[in-house]
Amino acid sequence: MSDLRAILHERFGFGDFRPHQAEACEVVAEGRDALLVMPTGAGKSLCYQLPGVARGGNVLVVSPLIALMEDQATKLAQQGFKVARIHSGRHRDEANQACLDWRDGELDFLFIAPERLRNGGFIKWLQKRPAGLIAIDEAHCISHWGHDFRPEYRMLGARLAELRPAPVIALTATATPRVQQDIVDQLSLKDCKRLIHGFRRDNLGIEVLDIKPSQRADAALALLAEGERLPAIVYVPTRKECDSLAGQIAAKVPCLPYHAGLSGAERDRAQSAFIVGDVPVIVATIAFGMGIDKADIRTIIHTALPSSLEGYYQEIGRAGRDGKPSRAVLMWGWNDRRIHEHFFERDYPPVAEMRELYNALNERGQSVDALAADLGLRGDDAQRRLGKLAGHGGAWIDADGYATRGDDTWTEPYTLHAAHKREQLDRVVAFAQGNTCRMNALVAHFGERVGAVGCGRCDICAPTGCIARSFREPNETELAHLQRITEVLRVSGGMSTGKIYRDYFEEGGLSRRDFEPLLAALEQNGLVETSNEAFEKDGREIQYRKAALTQVGYELITLPADAVMLPGEIKQPAKKKRAAKTAAAHNVDAPADVVEALKAWRLQEAKAAGVPAYRIMGNKTLDAVAAARPGNLDALAEVHGIGPAKLELYGEALLRVLREHRGG
Ligand code: ADP
Ligand code: MG
Repeated sequence: MSDLRAILHERFGFGDFRPHQAEACEVVAEGRDALLVMPTGAGKSLCYQLPGVARGGNVLVVSPLIALMEDQATKLAQQGFKVARIHSGRHRDEANQACLDWRDGELDFLFIAPERLRNGGFIKWLQKRPAGLIAIDEAHCISHWGHDFRPEYRMLGARLAELRPAPVIALTATATPRVQQDIVDQLSLKDCKRLIHGFRRDNLGIEVLDIKPSQRADAALALLAEGERLPAIVYVPTRKECDSLAGQIAAKVPCLPYHAGLSGAERDRAQSAFIVGDVPVIVATIAFGMGIDKADIRTIIHTALPSSLEGYYQEIGRAGRDGKPSRAVLMWGWNDRRIHEHFFERDYPPVAEMRELYNALNERGQSVDALAADLGLRGDDAQRRLGKLAGHGGAWIDADGYATRGDDTWTEPYTLHAAHKREQLDRVVAFAQGNTCRMNALVAHFGERVGAVGCGRCDICAPTGCIARSFREPNETELAHLQRITEVLRVSGGMSTGKIYRDYFEEGGLSRRDFEPLLAALEQNGLVETSNEAFEKDGREIQYRKAALTQVGYELITLPADAVMLPGEIKQPAKKKRAAKTAAAHNVDAPADVVEALKAWRLQEAKAAGVPAYRIMGNKTLDAVAAARPGNLDALAEVHGIGPAKLELYGEALLRVLREHRGG
């Protein structure tokens, strides 16, 4: 260990190990295989670099991104190590020199892109000098279950065997237990030490807010009105929302939008203004924040349900790097799930439909438009499906956009990928709905061990500390319901939550929507605990949620009014400027010619999509749109019947039709 520490000081110039680095370095230096999962920025690279040096160099590093490779190689070279790299951006002569240097044992580190290993001749070169250590960076890329699967990583497993007996260390920042297992299996890691650390963030309080889409902008404004919440990043799902919300916030606090539709210069300007502190709020689509180094971000807001917990964790992880208390507020509602499902169904059509496309491909090459016409698909749908097929090897698309048939091995990876996306969605929803400590839930998602104690900061652990909403005592009726639930559980000793509702509340007229928060409140206040259970029926596993009283709940025969706090008001901005926009839709008669134009448009859409017209939009909604005559997307969003999904899909088209009928 003292040797490792000496190398740390003398060769790397660092004063001390960061948390968990010492353990990892020790294990790897000893020659054991290891899987290292730590968040971005935790300092994983050192955990292969230092033991690699301790083992005498000849470290082979496989890395999927040229930029990452260049960055690490440059740093190591600056630290005085002998480094070479081989990837598509390098000249052939340089690659040849690197091979010679490797053979002669002159390299401390050789970085290679994974596809190099496809070349048998190259493997032979590598074999001329046994590696001291092999590091696989961004190892989640090997797994279909990882969020960034790369086909060229797949062959690593087979190739590694030819480069052994060197120990192998796999590194990644985002691996769920399933992905971890996949990495270990595919790379055939032996007696692998799993080091999964550092996902718990003690200074970050997470709040999850069930809130209607129409209230979210106001809720975000209310949060950002308080100076101590800044700097802040607000993540929104679409560019349109990005521009519109950034505009609203900018009326109160300096704020800029950040999304892929802006020019590179505009984005750079926004990013630097944020980093130096001129602009304390950025409203961004997911593109923002990668690689930004700003330690004092106090608040991260999500105005919609993200599509994966991995992404969500990365985003909220940008708050409070300075260690001071910070908050993350996630806004969502059931509708968010529906929107994700809508896009999922669009993006991952059934295999049979994908096969029709595959069968329509040939060796000669066809344009997307020709394929679309052939299959009766809309152009953008055909494009999307073709892209998916190509991503899994089932199609080749040349530089001019002509598609030819690829290998018929795409179904399995495609199906797995779709199932993975689906699971990610289910897990985010489960997280949002969860009744246990938010930080524990996230940490457990990454496979880090979770103790019995909660974080003490999130909306579950400490509801009264929430910044996005207040909590209140139950009213008389609610208190009676709460009391009833505890009585049922005291007598039964535990029961499925569905059964409690059906047997004791459904008839009384309480909706399930109103019942669940009561149960959640009992759990959040420590009187009830729930667990996921399953039983078998007709050979199928049926899952359910079981509720039981805790010891405290059991002892509390009569609930005092303040034993359970219920979610109360969502904080609103001080000044409200809500005009009666929606009322207008009902008062003003819809001009007939505009309605007709909208119907004509709807018919076109319906034909193109091959669905009945009402599935595109109902008559009432068309009337409301015609009556309100919104001039922009914000105003359109206020029209009754226009939800976020409709807005995203048809917003621009509706506005275009309205513009064309301005006179009427
Ligand atoms: P990761 O791969 O986990 O995202 P990196 O390995 O790129 O993180 O490390 C992030 C930064 O931390 C790098 O700039 C690295 O030089 C620095 N770093 C790593 N270990 C230490 C240490 N023990 N002391 C100081 N800086 C460190
Ligand atoms: Mg890294």
